[in-house]
Amino acid sequence: MPELVNSQQNISLIQNLTSNKKYYIQTYGCQMNVYDSELVATQLENSGYEKTDKIDKADAIFLNTCAIREKAEETVHNRLSNLHTLKKKNPKLILGVLGCMAQNLKNDLLESKPYVDVILGPDSYRRIPELIKSREQKNEYLVDTKLSKFEVYEDLYPSRSEGINAWISIMRGCDKFCTFCIVPFTRGRERSRSIESIVEETKKCVSEGFLEITLLGQNVNSYKTPNGTFPELLKSVASVKGVKRIRYTSPHPQDIDDDLLEVMRNHSNICNQIHLPLQAGSNRILKRMNRTYTKQQFLDLVNKIRKYMPECSLSTDVIVGFPGETDEEFSETLEVIDEVGFNSAFMFKYSSRPGTKAAEYSDQINEDEKQSRLEKLIKLQKNKTLIANKKLIGTVQEVIVEKESKKSSHQWAGRTMGNTWVIFDKTNESLKDNIKVIITDAQGITLFGQREN
Ligand code: SF4
Repeated sequence: MPELVNSQQNISLIQNLTSNKKYYIQTYGCQMNVYDSELVATQLENSGYEKTDKIDKADAIFLNTCAIREKAEETVHNRLSNLHTLKKKNPKLILGVLGCMAQNLKNDLLESKPYVDVILGPDSYRRIPELIKSREQKNEYLVDTKLSKFEVYEDLYPSRSEGINAWISIMRGCDKFCTFCIVPFTRGRERSRSIESIVEETKKCVSEGFLEITLLGQNVNSYKTPNGTFPELLKSVASVKGVKRIRYTSPHPQDIDDDLLEVMRNHSNICNQIHLPLQAGSNRILKRMNRTYTKQQFLDLVNKIRKYMPECSLSTDVIVGFPGETDEEFSETLEVIDEVGFNSAFMFKYSSRPGTKAAEYSDQINEDEKQSRLEKLIKLQKNKTLIANKKLIGTVQEVIVEKESKKSSHQWAGRTMGNTWVIFDKTNESLKDNIKVIITDAQGITLFGQREN
């Protein structure tokens, strides 16, 4: 009995220390960071903190950062300089930098932003409760950017906001070492969660009302455990009762095989959508990027996907102005974009990341040239998106009612299985209903339709 009294006293001591304290997290970059911020939120809430949307009311502010492009880093540096003003007004404010920039620029941050209290890399988030205590009680600072070979946060469930789609991280890190990419350095080696824990998290998401699950990983289809690889995992998640839709991102073309396509074809709740990052259309540039496939292999893969799933929606990533890319080589990228007819694309100018192999290449392309190539690519892709969307006019699409349209309170917005937004008039449906919509028009990246009677 005395032990029980002591532990209760301890609990109330911790609660008193942290009661009414508020945290604010700002997330930059990819969806993995959004997921990680949700994990951090769980840890903070377990330490007695409450979320606030008002940054000036927060007792602890965390920036979860991205290092993928130079611009993303600049944004965080500027943000930190602004937050320094808040810190001067309230010296007790805990200011933390999390994520890829913390990992990559630890020394730089320590030197240039000495007012930052906490610097944690992506594998150190379990230390949040400990740091909160030491910072509050002893005013200690914490820097931990050690990368782990094992950390997958297997038993930690993120604190999600309500919605339709829940992201579930299934693996972390990357072993591919594309020469332009900083991820293998900031996120470490590939490691996967167990199928059981992912299925458990999926069931939890369903019980919380989520309809769609997106499996997430830096290299999602490299997923591998002693009990199965990505196709087996996908099958297990698809069998969870109540999961209406499953998506996954981001795969590497090298790891898309017949087993995976077979599983996708055989499960009606796995969306007929694949994000297939091309990056470049020239064999020489692909080799220089260390992408491990040729243009022809990529095109063959597109054909194979379309044989398995003729209606499969395809999206891609493209980098223009990679070091040494000639006009002809850029034209080859345009040719592949033209030939494949992706439904959508994320298009970027190459951004040199110190520490990567490509940053050392001496034949960097100038900004004006990169900009002009990007504009040509965007123009072509816009046209391709419109063509792909117009092909859907007259078809009936399954759509989940996700939100009110921004343009009219008389209309809903929802996505198709192929991940394209559709706007349609409200009738008697409610949010989260899964309904059938006849597509009547396509403008830009958006479809328009009417509910099927
Ligand atoms: S596969 Fe993706 S995450 Fe891995 S190095 Fe290449 S671009 Fe980066």
